[in-house]
Amino acid sequence: MLPKPPPRGPRTGFIYEPPYRIQGESVAGEHTVVQIPELGLNFDMGSCPRWALAAGVTAVSHGHMDHIGGLPYYFSQRNFQGMGTGTVVCPPSLVIPLRDMMKSWIGLERQQTPFELVGLAPGEEWELKPDIFLRPFATSHTVPSQGYSVIEKRKKLKAEFVGMAQEKLKSLRTEGTQITEIHEHVHVAYTGDTQLCPALMHPDVASAKVIVTECTFFAADERKRAGAGKHLHVEDLRSLLPVWESGCVIAIHLSRRSNIQLAREELDRFPEGKRVHILMDGPRNSARYEQQVHNAESREVES
Ligand SMILES: [Zn+2]
Ligand SMILES: [Zn+2]
Repeated sequence: MLPKPPPRGPRTGFIYEPPYRIQGESVAGEHTVVQIPELGLNFDMGSCPRWALAAGVTAVSHGHMDHIGGLPYYFSQRNFQGMGTGTVVCPPSLVIPLRDMMKSWIGLERQQTPFELVGLAPGEEWELKPDIFLRPFATSHTVPSQGYSVIEKRKKLKAEFVGMAQEKLKSLRTEGTQITEIHEHVHVAYTGDTQLCPALMHPDVASAKVIVTECTFFAADERKRAGAGKHLHVEDLRSLLPVWESGCVIAIHLSRRSNIQLAREELDRFPEGKRVHILMDGPRNSARYEQQVHNAESREVES
């Protein structure tokens, strides 16, 4: 009898929530890497699939292997393929250990791979694109950890000046009156690994349009495991979802033991569960995308 061919690898999870594509692979303890191509941004890099190279910036949540194992390969392949030096934004406490890791590769490879590390603490900001910033928030895991919000800052006319003639506004401005103010819009929040903590209720997360959240455990008898590993259990989502304004919550980092079908049933059990998509739920996400394509096509035919 012939031997079996090797098992096929995981399919990359994909969700389209205009204007963003959220794509990635994520299994707790194995690897997590999530990309938003429109932002040129990856969150974490437990492994480095080919598509992950395309984003020049990677925001790392914490130092566990399943979130950083792909980093040396990411830096190396980007350089090898002439894609420019990769930039990794990370908790400040990871800058020295990551630098040491990259130094140790020089001895192995007998060549230097260029890399860029940016230590960014909760509350600090780093400009990702014009007017779009990465701002970490403190999370609570078994090692130092943080999540990230992607925030757009838009200048807006202050309410008291709305409707005023252009001429008048111009003269106010030349007199030095501050006629505009900055409005913040949170496009995306990414939790990384964490247990339930206050930052998850903060507006930087709660007001995000898209929230990518870990949810490692779903079974009723796994609450203790979730507590020990400082991870979220689906029961924690039950208290977070009413606070989160997002219409598109994406669950990642399910444990290998979590059956996606059963996880889906758990989510469907509570009223806000319908807003939650599971990144690795291929069939359901494909059906959703096909429906989006179909809707777009019928709109084109109408117009
Ligand atoms: Zn993890
Ligand atoms: Zn972890």
